[in-house]
Amino acid sequence: MPAQDRKALLDNLRLELKARIHHYEEHQHRSSGALNKDLDDQALEVQNDEVVARLEEEARLELAQAEHALARIAAQVGDFCEECGKPIAPDRLKALPYTTRCKNCATSNEGESSSNKAF
Ligand SMILES: [Zn+2]
Repeated sequence: MPAQDRKALLDNLRLELKARIHHYEEHQHRSSGALNKDLDDQALEVQNDEVVARLEEEARLELAQAEHALARIAAQVGDFCEECGKPIAPDRLKALPYTTRCKNCATSNEGESSSNKAF
């Protein structure tokens, strides 16, 4: 797909992720100030905080990935794998606009980073 199209997709993704992170931050800010008399409610709240904290971390990783991909597009190397330098299959770029690795490299590095799980 044209680099401009992919850039537009990533720009949208970046905005969406920033909005999500903002939302998570607000949630955490709000719940940290809450006082619960009931212990069960408190436990539930802590659990929710952990879930939100994890979601926020995932969103931040995805955002970093999207920004990394945008930087590579800006440097005119967005279509190439950052590990082996070979072109990334157009179908792969279409399915995963934020990817910066070809299928081979992404597969061989599976498990290294949680942000690559979907690759
Ligand atoms: Zn590669």
